[in-house]
Amino acid sequence: MTKKKEIAIDLNSTWEFAPAPESTAHIKLKKKYDLFINGKFVKPKSGKYFKTINPTTEETLAEVAEAGQEDVDLAVKSARTAYKEWSKLTGKERGKYIFRIARLMQERAREFAVIEALDGGKPIREARDIDVPLAAAHFFYYAGWADKLEYAFPNRKPKSLGVVAQITPWKFPMLMVAWKIAPALAAGNTVVLKPAETTSLTALKLAELFKDAGLPDGVVNIVTGYGKTGAMMVEHPDINKVAFTGSTGVGKIIMKAIAGTSKKSTMELGGKAANIIFEDAPIDQAVEGIINGIFFNQGHVCCAGSRLFIQESVYDLVMRKLKDRMENLVVGDPLDKNTDVGAINSKKQLDVIDNYIKSGIAEGCEIYQPEGSLPKKGYWCKPTLFTNVAQSNKIASEEIFGPVLAIQTFRTVAEVIAKANNTPYGLSAGIWSDKGSKVFNMTSKMRAGVVWANTYNKFDPTSPFGGYKESGHGREGGVQGLEPYLKFE
Ligand code: NAD
Repeated sequence: MTKKKEIAIDLNSTWEFAPAPESTAHIKLKKKYDLFINGKFVKPKSGKYFKTINPTTEETLAEVAEAGQEDVDLAVKSARTAYKEWSKLTGKERGKYIFRIARLMQERAREFAVIEALDGGKPIREARDIDVPLAAAHFFYYAGWADKLEYAFPNRKPKSLGVVAQITPWKFPMLMVAWKIAPALAAGNTVVLKPAETTSLTALKLAELFKDAGLPDGVVNIVTGYGKTGAMMVEHPDINKVAFTGSTGVGKIIMKAIAGTSKKSTMELGGKAANIIFEDAPIDQAVEGIINGIFFNQGHVCCAGSRLFIQESVYDLVMRKLKDRMENLVVGDPLDKNTDVGAINSKKQLDVIDNYIKSGIAEGCEIYQPEGSLPKKGYWCKPTLFTNVAQSNKIASEEIFGPVLAIQTFRTVAEVIAKANNTPYGLSAGIWSDKGSKVFNMTSKMRAGVVWANTYNKFDPTSPFGGYKESGHGREGGVQGLEPYLKFE
């Protein structure tokens, strides 16, 4: 493991950070971020700001406005006013704006990647190679659909919904915002978006880009704040739809709040995915898939392969290779391009993860963590795995949202199907086998919205993503991701 590098901070009027090692680009953050309403950055009527922390250094990166009721009212009003004109534009015109946003995002990819790593703690390599290009790809993809809605939904006369409230989580802050805003705009809606309180900066950077793209004022409004602000959006009478990504607990609160109203909803909630290794799997490839499945983005992934099932006959082999591979993971400074596992997003989440690790030990599971020490400052968790795990153990049944893997074995196909589906969640699953027939059989039996075969955590704007059971309803991505932003005659 590497040691955390010092990040130079200028304490004067703007915060300035040393560039990532291979770059000459300096990223300037503002000291204070205001709300983005009606095409302008405005101070919150609430007068309140909160701090956003760099999880690597525990230093304050910036202060961010906390929107109160009056601010949310203004944002919704601005989106409603903008809707009158935006919804009258032709799909081709809307598509041009969305396309322009995608291009600008590509041009400023480096800035976005650095801010994502600073504010979220994720490795810059992932932000640079996955999050930012994929976010731009979503805008490109939905730009293409904007003038083809009639074709996408033949004989159904698709119409926009109106004003949509969008609430996003702290994992993949930029990508989640792209998953939400791009299809909403393509479908002709206007937006009030709230990013998560610990990772608001890339969404606010995106607001600057919307201005530069000439997006008409009020089409996208960004209000920042805690859950209270999100609840104000959900309960606002002039909202037509709530698109939420976050925990199952908050998803249930939102569903109760909108029950009995005409508001539509999309819920992208938690997960506890099974990653299944059969004895005929390409083992080296599968071990990489296990690593990527659980340690990508520090395990802050709703579809993380957090329950590993290994067929008994290859258990020893897989475990040996897996532990060897874990010893080589670089944990440390997210701005170092060689880092594999960055910082845990917040102290609160680190405590949650630590408590799950303690519960695994207390329940008699066997822990394994690679050698090496962690940086002294910041929020860190070693890549961790547990063996001797029972289905009933908390680490095997509850979503941890951290780099912690619970490992079980199986003998037969029927046994692993029963074990894998024995969860209230149903977001994703992974199958590793050389036999196509086995893969097809398994994919049809897994109660999961996304099933990967001989790969894991692969995303594409053309593919729908979403869950069953307590993992939510509705889909994001693909033509299916447009449908929840439309109504039909
Ligand atoms: P969270 O539910 O705590 O918060 C998500 C967002 O909801 C934040 O912006 C938060 O401020 C807001 N919020 C909190 N209380 C609210 C309320 N009462 N009303 C309205 N908004 C409220 O989730 P999190 O900790 O930010 O994210 C982690 C969770 O998100 C995990 O459970 C993960 O599985 C899930 N997730 C799911 C997907 C998916 O696509 N299914 C994707 C990413 C994350």
